[in-house]
Amino acid sequence: MDKIIIEDLQIYAHHGVYPKENEIGQNFYINAELETDTRRAGVMDDLNLSTNYGDVCRFLHSFLTEHTYKLIETAAERAAEALLLTFTHIKRVTLEVRKPEAPIPFPFQSVSVRITRGWRRTYIACGSNMGDREACLNHAVACFRKDHRCNVARVSEWMETTAYGGVEQEDFLNGVIALDTLYTPEELLERIHEIEKSQGRERVVHWGPRTLDLDILLYEGCVMDTEELTIPHKDMANRDFVLKPLAQIAPYERHPVLDKSVLQMYEDVRQKGEKHVISGK
Ligand code: AMP
Repeated sequence: MDKIIIEDLQIYAHHGVYPKENEIGQNFYINAELETDTRRAGVMDDLNLSTNYGDVCRFLHSFLTEHTYKLIETAAERAAEALLLTFTHIKRVTLEVRKPEAPIPFPFQSVSVRITRGWRRTYIACGSNMGDREACLNHAVACFRKDHRCNVARVSEWMETTAYGGVEQEDFLNGVIALDTLYTPEELLERIHEIEKSQGRERVVHWGPRTLDLDILLYEGCVMDTEELTIPHKDMANRDFVLKPLAQIAPYERHPVLDKSVLQMYEDVRQKGEKHVISGK
């Protein structure tokens, strides 16, 4: 992706672990690489289609002088998030906070923290088979819409489906939400658990009835497998009730391990005879 680059922006600020640093202050130098598509602005010669680097410098200056943090890690983290929330053309930012006057009793050139943060595309499967199922799924969408670290990009149709996994129970309503998010996968899982709990979800029977079930299907090319989280979702390729709504909003998105598009996976699962979806276009 194209980049707008700011080098060694000097800001006199008061970040530091020692009280002396907070009182007196020192020079910080900021390097920023803003990932953004500059094509249209470049072709049209129109600043409104780009990100004004002067505004970004003013913003960073205000932000880093108006707040005081102990750690340059925190200064970088908060400034990167504030930048991404304020300048909507920026998809990702690499921010380096350099502190050449840090209180270190040896000769040294500089110390710095460099982080990359940005909006990541993720797909969340939603399901409900208890209470007002549609209201539960709509509640999940509303929670993501209210969260400033998430942008809801698309929502599939809610589809009537029969239960999967062998437990005799009511039919489900299923769908998929496409989100751009600033959360890491682990943070997103925590957020999902909060939303499930807010709908009275209790984990009683494995694969049993639930007011709201939210699963992370894909998270921008991420492949991970920890005790808490497997991405892509372990069973997504076997679930027509996930793949059908996902194919509605992201047919050409690819599974990074199977290297298959959503449409291909949906075709494969149908060939195998999986058919839980009983409504939907
Ligand atoms: P569930 O019963 O579907 O709500 O899932 C229960 C647990 O599965 C969660 O508490 C997670 O720790 C774990 N899990 C593993 N991978 C995922 C994923 N991709 N999305 C959501 N939960 C996951």
